[in-house]
Amino acid sequence: MFNKSLVKTPMPEQNPAARARNFSEVALGYTEADAQSEAARCLRCKHKPCVAGCPVEVDIPGFVGKLAEGDPAEAYEIIRRTNALPAVCGRVCPQETQCEQKCVRGKNGVSVGIGRLERYAADWAMKNGEGASVQAAAPNGVKVAVVGSGPAGLTCAGELAGLGYEVTVFEAFHRPGGVLVYGIPEFRLPKAIVAREIEGLLARGVTLTTNCVVGRSLTLDELFAEGFRAVFIGSGAGLPTFMNIPGESLNGVYSANEFLTRVNLMRAFDETWDTPVQNAKRVAVVGGGNVAMDAARCALRLPGVETVTVVYRRGEAEMPARAEEIHHAREEGIDFKLLTNPTEVLGDDKGWVTGLACVEMELSEPDESGRRRPKPKPDSRFELPVDSVIMAIGSSPNPLIRQTTPDLPVNKWGCVVADEADGRTGKKGVYAGGDTVTGAATVILAMGAGRAAARSIHEDVLAGAI
Ligand SMILES: Cc1cc2nc3c(=O)[nH]c(=O)nc-3n(C[C@H](O)[C@H](O)[C@H](O)COP(=O)(O)OP(=O)(O)OC[C@H]3O[C@@H](n4cnc5c(N)ncnc54)[C@H](O)[C@@H]3O)c2cc1C
Repeated sequence: MFNKSLVKTPMPEQNPAARARNFSEVALGYTEADAQSEAARCLRCKHKPCVAGCPVEVDIPGFVGKLAEGDPAEAYEIIRRTNALPAVCGRVCPQETQCEQKCVRGKNGVSVGIGRLERYAADWAMKNGEGASVQAAAPNGVKVAVVGSGPAGLTCAGELAGLGYEVTVFEAFHRPGGVLVYGIPEFRLPKAIVAREIEGLLARGVTLTTNCVVGRSLTLDELFAEGFRAVFIGSGAGLPTFMNIPGESLNGVYSANEFLTRVNLMRAFDETWDTPVQNAKRVAVVGGGNVAMDAARCALRLPGVETVTVVYRRGEAEMPARAEEIHHAREEGIDFKLLTNPTEVLGDDKGWVTGLACVEMELSEPDESGRRRPKPKPDSRFELPVDSVIMAIGSSPNPLIRQTTPDLPVNKWGCVVADEADGRTGKKGVYAGGDTVTGAATVILAMGAGRAAARSIHEDVLAGAI
């Protein structure tokens, strides 16, 4: 049943002109025939390099083999042994730099579409009401607190609950999911899918406490005083960075985080919700990463928006966004002003944005990141007429927890210092992982960190170290 095709089975997608104005999912998912044909491209290598490329070590040849045999239920069961959120990862993981980059099939053609197949198996299981069998250990009476319900916190909580721990997740927002619900847009990751995967995790007996900001509502030391034996910090990196240029406090300037939270978590695009978002016609998004692409594509879908321009100081080759995201943004009609840097947000006498002053840039020698350093071209200032500006130039961990936990080691960027392999921090009983340790990274790395920390907590409890 081996399929010799050198190319991936294409992913059916909504037509760009139609999808640019709606929030429905762009990628429509494989049919059964697509999945079987794509799975049949796997070479079933003995040494499985793809598994080494997956931070949660999914048995990729195992599940792909089951799909090729037409057994999606067993394929799902195999994925769920190590990945608690397969419908999420199948949609948003950067497989091209992870499992698919290691795929031997890619050496003489295009790698197997592992992410697309993972999504197919997970969606099949949801549609057919199949949950993976949960084998939880007997309760051990040990209480563990998890701060944050993003992929790091949820994975850590799910793993510990499976080992018999009494786990409580404390979440600042009113809904669990972290960036999966407030950041990544509906058209890339439908919120109903995230909710189903989270329900499955919480069904393991995890308690969820929402609207609870650790560091404000209660501190880490108060958690220990309440009888929690260990605390895992998975609070992400949600504090936005601004450029510190004049005009950034004008009405109509948003951080990408705030804009995306209004649109995704608080559904500002849906007329039946009363979440306000500015009624702009021309929007500029500053930045060249995935967050900038998501903000730009969300902005274009809002009623009344006519043009969206991405303003980025380097060229396309230097953009950190995934090639697929840039391609989708271009197809939908987003305009790109590359080698362009904002110098001032312009406003009217009532304090509303009217434009973005920019300079043209040129690239010189590479900087410490290895990318060519941009420098302004003399006398190149120009004005872009816009009525909203979204800053998507990075984010860092929120300072609340470090400010209220003076003995928790943090680095100069405000990230919690934790061993990336096992999640242990310099404070006894405290573990950390995900974006709060690494700075903004990926869903699967956060999940891998949550899993590693759960193992360390279990080891330390068994050893009597905490
Ligand atoms: C717009 C956007 C698009 C992205 N797209 C992708 C993508 O396509 N693929 C990919 O792999 N990655 C993507 N990422 C990155 C990815 O989402 C993150 O790396 C990942 O979510 C990090 O997981 P986490 O659990 O560490 O943190 P988060 O997902 O940030 O979750 C942290 C949670 O902790 C809560 N919290 C924070 N402080 C406190 C506190 N003091 N008390 C209680 N709760 C607290 C927050 O409310 C949040 O719910 C994207 C990120 C953004 C912003």
